[in-house]
Amino acid sequence: METYKFDALVVGGGIAGMQASLDLADQGYTVALVEKEPSIGGKMIALSKVFPTLDCCSCITTPKMSAVAHHENISLFTYCEVQAVEEEQDGYAVQVLKKPRYVNENTCTGCRLCEYACPIDLPSAFDMNMGAIRTVRVPFSTAVPQIAVLDMDNCILCGKCETACPVEDCIDFTQVPEEFEFETQSIVLATGYETTPIDAKAEYGAGKLHNVIDGLMMERLLAPTGPYGRIIRPGDGKEPESIAYVQCAGSRDETLGVEYCSRVCCMYAIKQAMLISGSLPLADVTIYYMDIRAFGKGYEEFYQNAKAMGVEFVKSKVARITEDEDQNPVVRVELIEESARVVERTHDLVVLSLGMLPGDNPQPIYRVPIAEDGFVSVPSPNSTPSKTNRQGIFVTGAAGGPMDIVDSIITAGNAAIEAAAYIEAHKNGHAAQVPADEEMELAHA
Ligand SMILES: Cc1cc2nc3c(=O)[nH]c(=O)nc-3n(C[C@H](O)[C@H](O)[C@H](O)COP(=O)(O)OP(=O)(O)OC[C@H]3O[C@@H](n4cnc5c(N)ncnc54)[C@H](O)[C@@H]3O)c2cc1C
Ligand code: SF4
Ligand code: SF4
Repeated sequence: METYKFDALVVGGGIAGMQASLDLADQGYTVALVEKEPSIGGKMIALSKVFPTLDCCSCITTPKMSAVAHHENISLFTYCEVQAVEEEQDGYAVQVLKKPRYVNENTCTGCRLCEYACPIDLPSAFDMNMGAIRTVRVPFSTAVPQIAVLDMDNCILCGKCETACPVEDCIDFTQVPEEFEFETQSIVLATGYETTPIDAKAEYGAGKLHNVIDGLMMERLLAPTGPYGRIIRPGDGKEPESIAYVQCAGSRDETLGVEYCSRVCCMYAIKQAMLISGSLPLADVTIYYMDIRAFGKGYEEFYQNAKAMGVEFVKSKVARITEDEDQNPVVRVELIEESARVVERTHDLVVLSLGMLPGDNPQPIYRVPIAEDGFVSVPSPNSTPSKTNRQGIFVTGAAGGPMDIVDSIITAGNAAIEAAAYIEAHKNGHAAQVPADEEMELAHA
């Protein structure tokens, strides 16, 4: 069988990986984009609006997802994971595992009739477990590709999806994991971030308090496509009248091993506070913070606008969160600007601004050095911010450290330039485009 060769492998289809793929593909390089989830989009597709412009996230992300899927130089491999990478004389040999969707990718039309027929509901990971999805479903309304995926762990094999599906043999309970291989000249790591676990801090309720949520949950509550279509407390469905943010609830915290600042939390808390003020004009919003780090262009003005809108900023240290008999969170807080006076304040809803952790550890497969903070090490961040210590391997976005969307896009452009320069320097005429109709064959070889 012919070995397929790409100019670049991009690992991770969040905003950074999509942008790096597009920047490489637009220059004529062939790209294999490997994403572990059934859809590309990363964290950004689930966000409500972006700071500091308050543009709709979905409106920015969806066209990029579509451009990636339709670009003639990009071969998209979703629900796949790289298993092994071996350095060769001429680049890297890549082994990929394709997880079974139990749906035929070539024939599924994304009509969702299987989803409507399935009787088993599950918590929706896309909606941060606040909404429900079916055991077989198209991952979310703007997913790319629009192909269903079936969760065999929760399936009762009732066959209702198979009966409802209008395409013959499209639901396929016999699928098994498959492996395929290709070669690439260069690799761009774009594996993004996860947040620190919500149950990590016992003093903040260890994830057990009914109306203490995290920033990503609030993003879904604020999003037009969110689980409830409005902001309510997940504990009892009540509309909150008093909402508080606890900053650095997972960053700059030695006890969690996260000593760094996660860079985006101040800005997303301010953004969410402004969006809440728009949706619930009578609600009080308080932000308990140690420092506000509004570092980017237009960010300080954004912060000042939030203050002018009436968001209360309290310089403080939150020692503990408990709840009263009505499940209202009670915040015990030391007021730094009032001689460290300790008070207890009751709110309807508390949002923890959790820290950012690496989304993956690429060290075992790609053998790139990892920095002390756990993110991929970049030896010369000022001159070559995407270059790792291994030749031909580059990093972009939050895989290299906590980063907002603007910086993720900038580093994606940088990674694409670095990778292109590397490919040019090492080109030997082998890189060839995989025809669209053969992409699936490759994945099923
Ligand atoms: C609550 C909250 C609100 C935010 N709001 C804003 C905002 O308003 N404005 C702003 O600028 N920033 C905001 N951010 C930050 C923003 O989410 C990040 O800057 C951005 O998502 C980083 O993009 P990325 O592509 O690097 O990572 P991600 O979005 O994490 O994407 C990484 C992708 O890689 C995939 N992946 C991971 N490991 C593997 C693997 N081994 N193999 C294959 N695929 C893999 C993942 O599934 C994912 O699709 C917010 C963050 C949070 C937590
Ligand atoms: S067979 Fe499984 S996925 Fe299909 S409808 Fe029944 S429970 Fe849902
Ligand atoms: S599996 Fe069948 S019913 Fe489900 S989305 Fe695909 S074509 Fe439609």
